[in-house]
Formats: sequence, structure tokens, C-alpha cells
Amino acid sequence: MQVLICGGGVIGASIAYFLARRGIKVTVIERSGLACAASGKSGGFLAADWCDGTSLAALARHSFALHAELAATLDADWGYRRLATYGGFAGGRNRPLRRGGYDLAWLSAEAIVTHQLGTPETTAQVHPARFTKAMMAAAQAEGAQLRIGRVTGIARRENGNVAGAVVDGEIVAGDAVVIAMGPWSILATAWLPLPAIFGLKGHSLVFETGTNVPAEALFCEYREASGAIAAPELFPRSDGTTYVCAISSETPLPGDPAGVTPDPGAIERLEAMCGDLLPVLASAKILARQACYRPIARDGLPLIGRVPEVGGAYVATGHSVWGILNAPATGEAMAELIIEDAAKTIDLSPFDPGRLPPFDPARRRNRSSG
Ligand SMILES: Cc1cc2nc3c(=O)[nH]c(=O)nc-3n(C[C@H](O)[C@H](O)[C@H](O)COP(=O)(O)OP(=O)(O)OC[C@H]3O[C@@H](n4cnc5c(N)ncnc54)[C@H](O)[C@@H]3O)c2cc1C
Repeated sequence: MQVLICGGGVIGASIAYFLARRGIKVTVIERSGLACAASGKSGGFLAADWCDGTSLAALARHSFALHAELAATLDADWGYRRLATYGGFAGGRNRPLRRGGYDLAWLSAEAIVTHQLGTPETTAQVHPARFTKAMMAAAQAEGAQLRIGRVTGIARRENGNVAGAVVDGEIVAGDAVVIAMGPWSILATAWLPLPAIFGLKGHSLVFETGTNVPAEALFCEYREASGAIAAPELFPRSDGTTYVCAISSETPLPGDPAGVTPDPGAIERLEAMCGDLLPVLASAKILARQACYRPIARDGLPLIGRVPEVGGAYVATGHSVWGILNAPATGEAMAELIIEDAAKTIDLSPFDPGRLPPFDPARRRNRSSG
């Protein structure tokens, strides 16, 4: 069996790994570069139990365990480590004078840490670009191929089943095709009966902080000088960098993943927040000023499974804020579904793409032309 995976983000690379290690021929087709989008620009934060009480609970708990297993077994370093996680608030004119019950020495005096959200038993992190590339490298070591090219359609057999993917004007043959193009999976609604996927933009900075910041993550509510409330997330990493993200926007997704740029003014706002929260960030070198889009389905749950009515067509996207966390369990379950016709490790029924109506791309064209 030859499986084609459209999209070289964390989801595509993880599916490739779990298929390849079971001896399946896999080709990942990536338009720009591995991890060039959200999978390379996200926080890489992992939590075992933050999805408890939701349909994602089993997926998240199993994936959290798989992250630890992969870090212990694969011969590569992607900055996996356990860490403590805190919550608090900062900013605004009426800053409280007392510190919270937790003393995080690296925070400015104005930041109040109010509670602990996770311990090293329940929260962890990876460097997401390095993790994605390591998963793809491990898949390649088992025979998987990576092809840089733009998927523009699905080739079908006379009976309607998948025959391959159209890549740069050429048909690449395959028995199964997986759509894993993150928010660009919306393009596939013109090729297959798939529900809509939306992209929500987020901004981030990566600072060179050396060993000045301990392994403590912070989720913060921050009042900007304008009165706007933002929710910065700070993740010091084992490679001596600190990642900070905040400021979401609904700026439309550009057609080309390489064309994603920060919104005007967003980076300046984020830099001001960072300098206020962490004195060390005010003077640290900024290594990256960036933006990316998280993929979201209409009901907020991922689409993981068979595409209705088209034999050999699969989708794995819409992981929203938990794509890095849930990639390994998604990859493992998708491999089971494709090889054995049913996922064994995870019940994929809550994520069945058939639960939502297929999106009609003509409606979008009509709306934009009207
Ligand atoms: C600011 C921010 C912070 C985040 N922090 C976290 C976090 O801490 N923890 C966590 O678990 N998750 C986090 N996420 C979510 C996570 O990053 C995403 O859910 C995840 O990266 C999605 O992965 P993906 O592989 O589905 O999509 P993507 O990473 O978007 O990859 C899709 C790939 O498809 C390719 N592609 C597009 N069109 C085509 C085409 N026509 N042909 C071929 N290839 C194509 C693109 O180039 C891209 O490489 C965060 C997201 C954002 C925006």
C-alpha cells in the first residue's frame, strides 16, 4: 500500500512515522518546508489533564504518554522536558502591591502568580519544529519519503475511490491520501466532501535568554496600557530560548503558507508586554518575530478519520490549540485506521469528519464576489 500525506506539519509527520514503522510506504508532500507553519511556530506546551471532561481527554492523556515514550526511545533531541506551570496576571495601572503565593524569581515585581496549573508530572514541553522534523526523520529512517510540492487536487478511480494526489500538475499515485494541511485543509473541500476548517492567527516571539529562566511555564492575564486584555503564554525552553505567544486575530489565511506575516502593530504590543512581565526579556535578543494559524473545525474538535463517501481518502486536522500535544496519538490512531480499518488505541468516533456537513466552496466564492 502507498499512502500519500498532504502537509508536512506535526500531524502529517506523526502519521508518517507511525505508518512507516509498520512497514507501509509513505510519502509526505509538503508545499513549503517541514514545520514551516504552526507546527514550527507554536508553544510546544503539553498537558496530560487539561482536556479532562471534554471529548479530547483520552486522546490528550494517551498522547502525553506517547510524547514521553518517543523522547525516551527515538535517538534525537527535540527539547522534551517536564516543567511546572503557573497562572497569574499583570499589567494595568492599578497593580496590586503584593505578590501571589508563588515566588517566580524571573518575573517582574508587578506580575502576580495566583495558582499552580501543572506539575512536572502533568505538564511538559517540546521544541515543536525540532519535534516535527525528528518525527519525519524517524519516518524516513523507516523508508518514508518527503517530497516538496504543492497538492492541488485528488486523482480518483472510475469507482470514485482515491487514485493519488495532483502535485505540481502531475499525478502521484497512491492507494490512500491523508489531508493534513492544517488550516489549508480548507482547499481540500474543493476536492473532497470535507467540513470547513478555519485558521485563527496567533503571534509569537522567541528570545535568547540563556540559563536565566528556569523550567517554569506561565499562563498570564495581562492588561495592556490601552485597557485591552491579552493572554500571554511564556515557555522557557531547554535550548536557552524563551517563547512567548499572545494576540489572536481573524486576519484571513493567505493561500501560500510562506506568506504568513504578523499583523501591523501586533509584534510591538507583544514586545511591550514581554518587557513588562520579565525584566530579562526587555534586554534579551529577539530571535524570531512571527505569526501562524491554528486549524479549527466548526465545533472546535479535530477532524480525524475517513472522508465520507470516498474510498481511500482520510483527513487529520483541526487540532486547534492542542496540535503538538495530540499529534502522536493522532498519528498512531490514523496508522491503525489505514492499516487495520479501525483505530484500536483511541476511539475516533468523536472526531469523525462525517459529524459535520461538507463545506461548499461555491458558497465561499459567491459570498466573496457578492
Ligand atoms: C500561537 C500558537 C501557539 C500554539 N501553541 C501550542 C502549544 O503550546 N501546544 C500545542 O499542543 N499546540 C499549540 N498550538 C497548536 C498547534 O501549533 C497546531 O494545532 C498544529 O501545529 C497544527 O499542525 P498541522 O500539522 O495540522 O498544521 P500545520 O502546522 O499548519 O501544517 C500544515 C502544513 O501543510 C502544508 N501545506 C499547506 N498547503 C499545502 C498544499 N497545497 N500542498 C502541500 N502542503 C501544503 C503547509 O505548508 C504546512 O507545512 C499553537 C498554535 C498557535 C497558532
